[in-house]
Amino acid sequence: MRLVVIPGDGIGPETVSVAVKALEKAAQQSEAVLELVHEIAGLDSLAQHGISVRPELIKTIEAADGLMMGPMTTHQLNDEAKGRINPSMFFRRHFDLYANIRPARTFEGAPIRVKPFDLVVVRENSEGFYADRNMVSGGSEMLVTDDVVVSLRRITRACCERIARRAFELAMTRRKKVTIVHKANVLKIGDGMFVQTCEAVAREFPDVTVDSVIVDAMMALVVRQPERFDVVVTTNMFGDILSDLTAELAGSLGMAASINAADHFAMAQAAHGSAPDIAGQNIANPFSQIGSAAMLLSWYSQRTGKPEYLEVAQRLEAAMVKTIREGKVTRDMGGNLGTDAVGRAFLANL
Ligand code: ATP
Repeated sequence: MRLVVIPGDGIGPETVSVAVKALEKAAQQSEAVLELVHEIAGLDSLAQHGISVRPELIKTIEAADGLMMGPMTTHQLNDEAKGRINPSMFFRRHFDLYANIRPARTFEGAPIRVKPFDLVVVRENSEGFYADRNMVSGGSEMLVTDDVVVSLRRITRACCERIARRAFELAMTRRKKVTIVHKANVLKIGDGMFVQTCEAVAREFPDVTVDSVIVDAMMALVVRQPERFDVVVTTNMFGDILSDLTAELAGSLGMAASINAADHFAMAQAAHGSAPDIAGQNIANPFSQIGSAAMLLSWYSQRTGKPEYLEVAQRLEAAMVKTIREGKVTRDMGGNLGTDAVGRAFLANL
């Protein structure tokens, strides 16, 4: 498996370097062959090359099996004409990474605000309310007058169908339950189509139990009883918001692993941002990035039918569980270790 690695901005270099060591060591212990290609994008690339995503980088990634990328700042990368392309947005669009899979689960030994739970938010990632990916040309957020803004939300049956299918397939490997989260009582046509399409796909999976919850009620329900959910499928922005909540309920946003997947390519990137408030201080939680790396290997194993990559993912997961149980965690998880020390404890357990 050839994997391009990009450190990203903010805390990215700190967390990605731990994830790289983790991947290298776990792969050495198995039959898996992992080639890591180190690249840069974002602010680093802007400073060195005057453009945040180089055309050669795109070719390198196209020739690879996956991408592991740190978080990217959204603030300074917002003018494509000046080479300030947001790499996260760019790769999501370029590779049509339509399925954003964001698991959230509690760990023994970590501070828990609720009952133990284990769920996955399956977030549609290619349309919805996101002004940067809705249109072939131009944005879908418009300033009509100085005081009037119109934001368009795109929902298409094909996109609803493919994300629903990923959610039901995932549920078949878990506790066989899918919850559709929506706002079809108000967004009757768009979310109506989303719910209808999910229910149509559900008929192909008779073993999976299905229910649907309105998004605002979901915010209360998931806090009160997160253990009742297994796979949660939802549209882009609802999934973005809900998954930060579920990550924090599980312990910390610093545990928020995620992959952005298409059918033949996937990118591992933690669900949180670049956390500029804690960057460079050696206090960022590296488990979001290690968890994302494990998800990418597991996705690759499933796609190619090569079990050795799943084994690497399982080793990473097991070492993470053990390290957290021992209380060797960063302060966002109630611990007192730095990023490096958590990395060392993790590698020892691996
Ligand atoms: P950006 O501008 O890139 O979106 P942000 O600060 O607005 O960044 P996040 O990066 O998601 O948004 O951070 C939200 C909060 O969660 C911050 O207080 C940050 O310090 C914290 N946080 C995010 N990631 C981690 C991590 N890996 N470890 C510890 N704390 C984290």
